Amino acid sequence: MSNISQRLHNLQAEVTAACEAAGRDPADVNLLAVAKTQPVSAVTTAWSAGQRHFGENYLQEALLKVNELPDADWHFIGAIQSNKTRDIAANFDWVHTVASAKVARRLGEQRPDHLDPLKVMIQVNISDEHSKAGVMPEAVQELANETTRLEGISLQGLMAIPAPTEDPAEQRRVFRELRELKEKIADSLSMDLPHLSMGMTGDFHEAIKEGATWIRIGTAIFGPRQTSGDRK
Ligand SMILES: *Cc1c(COP(=O)(O)O)cnc(C)c1O
Repeated sequence: MSNISQRLHNLQAEVTAACEAAGRDPADVNLLAVAKTQPVSAVTTAWSAGQRHFGENYLQEALLKVNELPDADWHFIGAIQSNKTRDIAANFDWVHTVASAKVARRLGEQRPDHLDPLKVMIQVNISDEHSKAGVMPEAVQELANETTRLEGISLQGLMAIPAPTEDPAEQRRVFRELRELKEKIADSLSMDLPHLSMGMTGDFHEAIKEGATWIRIGTAIFGPRQTSGDRK
């Protein structure tokens, strides 16, 4: 077994154990393999080991991999500039990082007609006021209202990248806030918002306890990120 398939295997066992400890069905927690900076070969190795969903942050790098592995499910999880929405709408199945009405509108308009609506999540700036990524919690409702009115995209839930901390209680507190916000918004829209994208290599155990349905894992699958000189 390659390192990558070994790590995937170990991670799946760890995720299953975390689900059982949390009283959750492991089938409800999806593993997104985050491949940014990793070579195409890393992605094809993970695919051969059975991994089906891949996350990418940088469009140009992502498109190389999408071309190589068009049958995988591709998730865009990076910051979105408006001039990138057309390629994202055409090449991805999911977007976790919608953070403005403008980007939501463009993704919907530019989603090709022959594809199902793009599944999107709203990125919430849940704990890190210093980073500009995501919308502030108090602005999520308005963006959710707008997003559900658009064709071509389908709102699935919320996503966040909390400020890093090694304190499990603090990790869990922030994930709980995101879950409660999602529940509040689903109630007000009278719709099911099934997904919560939260948890990375360092904090996925706590995210699973609070209801994560997508955990986004890079390092625990692929090892340390590659510097640009090593990329292939
Ligand atoms: C890089 C990245 C991840 C994966 O992080 P790891 O700590 O390597 O698991 C998850 N989500 C987003 C948005 C990322 O940019």
